[in-house]
Amino acid sequence: MLSTAKNNVAQTVDFQEVFQNLNDPFLILNQAGFQDCNAAAVKIFGAQSKEKILHTHPSTLSPPHQPGKGPSEEAANEMIGIALEKGSHRFEWDHQTIDGKIFPVEITLGVIRKGDDPLLFVQFHDISHRKRSEMALEAATRKAQFLAVEATQACRTKSEFLANMSHEIRTPMNGVIGMTGLLLDTELDPEQRQFVEILRNSGEAMMDVINDILDFSKIEAGKIEMEKTDFEMSNMLADFSDLMRVSADDRNLDWGFTIESGVHDHLLGDPGRLRQVLTNLVGNALKFTQEGGVHLHVEKQEETKKTVSLKFSVEDSGIGIPAQRVSRLFKAFSQVDSSTSRKYGGTGLGLTISQKLVQMMGGSIGVQSTEGEGSTFSFT
Ligand code: ADP
Repeated sequence: MLSTAKNNVAQTVDFQEVFQNLNDPFLILNQAGFQDCNAAAVKIFGAQSKEKILHTHPSTLSPPHQPGKGPSEEAANEMIGIALEKGSHRFEWDHQTIDGKIFPVEITLGVIRKGDDPLLFVQFHDISHRKRSEMALEAATRKAQFLAVEATQACRTKSEFLANMSHEIRTPMNGVIGMTGLLLDTELDPEQRQFVEILRNSGEAMMDVINDILDFSKIEAGKIEMEKTDFEMSNMLADFSDLMRVSADDRNLDWGFTIESGVHDHLLGDPGRLRQVLTNLVGNALKFTQEGGVHLHVEKQEETKKTVSLKFSVEDSGIGIPAQRVSRLFKAFSQVDSSTSRKYGGTGLGLTISQKLVQMMGGSIGVQSTEGEGSTFSFT
């Protein structure tokens, strides 16, 4: 049944007519050049009749050079060679109309082997559209890259400016704070003393803000480098703890730290930066706790022959953080609620700076918190 149907189709369909009426250009090629072509091929080459195309080598209807392939004549012969060897070949090609307009096509060459001289059928697919979109996309990508480089540069310049400015502001501020200290050592009546104390506290608060901005902009400008120095963990934490005890006592809060047994005391790293992160976390914990206290825990997490990874956890019994605000905590200038800065002070930069420093030390930072019960900030 099937074979009868096939024979019927072959007898009734005029394949020459199909070939002529195909939408895509279609040509027949042998060693001597194009042997036949359909109406679409005549049209795409802008020829008046097929005679202009027949017996020409494909390279005469192409620009002298093919992008990425070299001179057209050699490249055409190479493509034909590949098709003859593999049975078919598909590639991109630049052709040219009779009056010299170049158009890109995707060509499929197929081999018809009948007799000694193999024939190739050549099918064109116009890809001008695709090429135009590719070029537009490439131009857009180049522009986006250029803008990104410009934006990064602008951001860097801004951060450098901020770093320089905050550095410049620190010098006179040190003068102001130093002088208030000296003034407090002189004879003052109680009212004058109160004024000078306010002056000194405000000066110190301003220095904290300036220091945060200085650190933040230095990190943004890529100007912070980690040190590698010997230090003893127990000494470093004891000094740190003494300082924190002053604020804890001021606020009637418990404060203490524990170093677990596996932690090596003698370490190589950047104790200054480590202390900066601890100061910020413990400082925050004390700031946001009214009752109870704050405890710091240090334990070993991982150890290789040369490195050790330590986990520091700062636990407080303070106001806690609502679950939906946790993800924004480490973003610059973000505070849990906008009234926080008025009530507790702060820039919203401390956690961002801590996160960057921790990352520079190869670790990560996170928080677990229950609103109203307390928070634990941990970093490695
Ligand atoms: P700030 O200088 O404002 O303290 P941080 O980046 O250090 O900036 O902290 C951002 C915000 O995260 C704080 O304003 C506060 O809302 C919240 N926060 C940080 N630590 C705690 C904590 N221990 N308990 C409750 N909230 C905290």
